[in-house]
Amino acid sequence: MIRLAFLPRPDEMTDNWVAEQTDRFIQDSTLSVWNKPFIKDCLLQMSNNKCSYCECKLGIEDKYIEVEHFLPKSKYPNRVLEWENLLPSCKRCNSEKREFDPAINPFIHPVHDEPKDHLAYIAYRFTGKTEKGKNSIFELNLNDRTRLQTPRFEIASAIIEQLDDIQHDIEEALFEVKSLTKFVTRLKNLCNQGLPNNQYSSIIATELIRAAAFNYIKAAFNEFGLWDIELQDLEIHLRNIAFLD
Ligand SMILES: [Zn+2]
Repeated sequence: MIRLAFLPRPDEMTDNWVAEQTDRFIQDSTLSVWNKPFIKDCLLQMSNNKCSYCECKLGIEDKYIEVEHFLPKSKYPNRVLEWENLLPSCKRCNSEKREFDPAINPFIHPVHDEPKDHLAYIAYRFTGKTEKGKNSIFELNLNDRTRLQTPRFEIASAIIEQLDDIQHDIEEALFEVKSLTKFVTRLKNLCNQGLPNNQYSSIIATELIRAAAFNYIKAAFNEFGLWDIELQDLEIHLRNIAFLD
């Protein structure tokens, strides 16, 4: 989970339209009044096409966006189309959260809260640092072994393997500056995978920054003046979303 920011409400959601559709829903709760392309498109844009809870990529394989009502629509039907009550979610997270009510029990809101303040990550699993964190992990089943821990393990292994390869190649190159420059691009490509537009970016960022090989490579590049502005920026962006404590 990473911190998100709301985008402006879509133009189609005029006050009149929202009031009219909300009334329809209050009268007939089987109507999916939120199921509109302009709502889903804007929510997808807000989250880089990812689920705002588990960070899986939406729109690929069998993962389609569901409009999640942070305050459940069954309990707060008058807020069914309140723009800031809507979040993009995958079917898994949306189904896990069900009717859970964050107004009564603390729960992480990816816009209003900084997820890192509430979640710690170790060995492909999350643990709660706060009540909000604990409730969110439990209600969203954020340690789902098959659907989340396994993909995290696979991603982490691939990242560590590529970092180890770069470290190995640097050692082979015996610190000749000329040879080292070609590894800079490889590290940049790897770091780019941990930016927020990629799925599971907070996991990738965490694995990169924590890896011994990352720090070895950084030290080697620093020694030869190759830790350039772009790498410095990338590291800042990665640290921004990584779970480091
Ligand atoms: Zn999800």
